[in-house]
Amino acid sequence: MTTPRLTMDLDRIEHNARTIVALCQSHGIEVCGVTKAVCGDPEVARAMQRGGVASIADSRLENIRRLRAAGIDTDFLSLRVPAVSSVEAIVDLTDFSLNSELAVLEALSAAAQRRGRVHAVVLMVDLGDLREGVWPDDLLSLAEAAAKLGGIRIKGLGTNLACFGGVVPTAENMNYLAKLAGEIEQALGLDLDLISAINSSGLELIAAGKMPDRINHARIGEAILLGRETTQRRPWPDTFQDAFLLHAEILELKRKPSLPLGQRSEDAFGGLTQFEDRGEELRALLNLGRQDVDTAGLVPRNPEVVILGASSDYLVVDVTGAAGSISVGDELDFVPNYSALLSAMTSKYVHKVHMRSGKPLSKQT
Ligand SMILES: *Cc1c(COP(=O)(O)O)cnc(C)c1O
Repeated sequence: MTTPRLTMDLDRIEHNARTIVALCQSHGIEVCGVTKAVCGDPEVARAMQRGGVASIADSRLENIRRLRAAGIDTDFLSLRVPAVSSVEAIVDLTDFSLNSELAVLEALSAAAQRRGRVHAVVLMVDLGDLREGVWPDDLLSLAEAAAKLGGIRIKGLGTNLACFGGVVPTAENMNYLAKLAGEIEQALGLDLDLISAINSSGLELIAAGKMPDRINHARIGEAILLGRETTQRRPWPDTFQDAFLLHAEILELKRKPSLPLGQRSEDAFGGLTQFEDRGEELRALLNLGRQDVDTAGLVPRNPEVVILGASSDYLVVDVTGAAGSISVGDELDFVPNYSALLSAMTSKYVHKVHMRSGKPLSKQT
């Protein structure tokens, strides 16, 4: 088969989704499946739906358009706070969006009213991770102003943690969000449907039984796709960590010294690698490079394979431990982390293959 190739085991993704949905459901939390790391792949979204997710979220409108065009029937959430220039498309393509700027809410309001629609918004609060969201002190004034706008409805409050500042969801910050929700409801006389508080970093808190009751919505990508919570990257119980595999082919297999010969300067990417003299090694060159994937995020499936480095088009691996059992033309498999998955999905040079019941689906993308 063609290499390099990213296989997506849809049964495993479905299983992971079912495990995460069961955990969240038992704590009164609805799961929205996040497809941005797979560029809005419709087959992956369908696997998430079979696993029980209530809705689908993505950060890119191109991806949501792709999902809709493929006939995925669900509520779509736009994750990235909208650009002013994108509000028409947000209203057309999504059912609700995360928001933090009044100017954008005004533009959404105007766009929705032009279309005779009501667009639902979740107001994002920054609880310290320092990515998107209004500072808690400014939440009430934003909510007050938003409540006066036609064409939009405040559906809930949200926050996003563990993405930029690495701030972990705790009972304290989650309770704080719940308290803010109560204050907004009181002050504005409205009911908030959704308190959308967590991503894959919130699973530990849920499992520990410490998530406040008011939190009822989770936006989950990594835990479903890669089977890990994201505070320690701990493999989550009863999920697969290898639903996605990257397959590359051995182009050259030769014994070479482990130290470069001659006077040295920078490598192709301006780096200066430190080499360790381990004598002669059996080295393989694979057809996988930085134009295909974030090679730093790959873990070889075969423990005898050690990644030495990568250039645009080659991955250089030490396969001394596997000598005798591999040849030119063989494939080596790698488990991608989130960054590697995102980059491999985005690279047009990586072939994407959906698997069900251990077999490739006939229709490929
Ligand atoms: C990407 C993203 C998520 C999903 O995060 P995971 O860690 O993959 O579960 C949730 N919410 C927002 C706002 C995001 O951008």
